[in-house]
Amino acid sequence: MKFATKAIHAGQSPDPSTGAVMTPIYQTTTYVQASPGDHKGYEYSRGTNPTRTALENCLAALENGQHGLAFSSGMAATETVLKLLRPGDEVITGNDLYGGTYRIFTKLFEPLGIKFHFIDLANPESIRQYINEKTKLIWVETPTNPTMQIIDIESVSKIAKETEILFAVDNTFASPYLQNPLDLGADLVMHSVTKYIGGHSDVVMGALIVNDKELYDQLFFYYNACGNTPGPQDSFLVLRGIKTLHLRMKAHCENGRKIAEALKQHPKIEKVYWPGFEDHTRHDIAKKQMHDFGGMLSVVFKDKSLENTFKIASSFKVFSLAESLGGVESLINHPATMTHGSIPKDVREKVGVVDNLIRLSVGIEDIDDLLDDLQQALS
Ligand SMILES: *Cc1c(COP(=O)(O)O)cnc(C)c1O
Repeated sequence: MKFATKAIHAGQSPDPSTGAVMTPIYQTTTYVQASPGDHKGYEYSRGTNPTRTALENCLAALENGQHGLAFSSGMAATETVLKLLRPGDEVITGNDLYGGTYRIFTKLFEPLGIKFHFIDLANPESIRQYINEKTKLIWVETPTNPTMQIIDIESVSKIAKETEILFAVDNTFASPYLQNPLDLGADLVMHSVTKYIGGHSDVVMGALIVNDKELYDQLFFYYNACGNTPGPQDSFLVLRGIKTLHLRMKAHCENGRKIAEALKQHPKIEKVYWPGFEDHTRHDIAKKQMHDFGGMLSVVFKDKSLENTFKIASSFKVFSLAESLGGVESLINHPATMTHGSIPKDVREKVGVVDNLIRLSVGIEDIDDLLDDLQQALS
């Protein structure tokens, strides 16, 4: 099946007891058993719930994976992967990560004895010098947040396979419509479903998708044991959101391109980070591993002052100044003080997250209104 058909149908068949075409919201914690242990696959909703199962099967299908697990947030999904590690283990990851991921690595798991190497992954071969017998996980985000660096998933996966290290990709920025890391050799895909997959800024949720049954069973064990799973109402809302994922993504990409091009011409702007530009340092890799370039971009103003940046960030009328991304509405964000506020200044500035950078999540409103809003805010 092709993507659009999977988005609408995968994991969902009409309810056998009523014929309801839409997956019901199974608002139940428990399920009747004919005799002890004799049930229909559902015992208790922390572990399994039919609305969530439909969503998990749909998510797995969108990533061309075998198994999906939904979590109460993207961070809950990430934390579950980190629970696979033991004291002394080492992780290799990028130096331009989502702030919350950096925080959970350094503030929660480093004190438990896990060592993280935050490195520049532009050249995947540089990973090799950090690999030793303790290396258990390679964690990659691409495109990165917020400087839109592109990491070559296929090259990293070759190294991970050779050295038998688990390779995970945070695919939030691309969405399954633009990029499918499992097809490129990754072992695990993580999503903040909160963003493009949910798409309407009304649900916080995360997901993991894998092919390997043994890995799935291990992750499922933590998921059921710890109970960081979403409820049926949220699962239903995300299933509903996914039905238009392909249409929304097309519109995000179209508007994203027009805005990136307009900003590149603007006299007050020093730099635009967007992987669709031919002069982007890894445009060739982006073209190879993504179907299009998405609606996320960042700009650096010529005026370096925080004052100027705050003034512009507060002058938008259609774009809203808010954290998060991937919804139908356009958002702007000031990473240095908002999403990346938990990263020390010297660490973030090294990768370009400077005070005069703002990130745009281009929504799917009419492009003329978005362009007008940018012009008026910049002037
Ligand atoms: C938002 C985000 C997360 C965290 O997901 P939550 O759903 O907010 O917990 C992780 N990675 C990336 C790239 C994100 O944008």
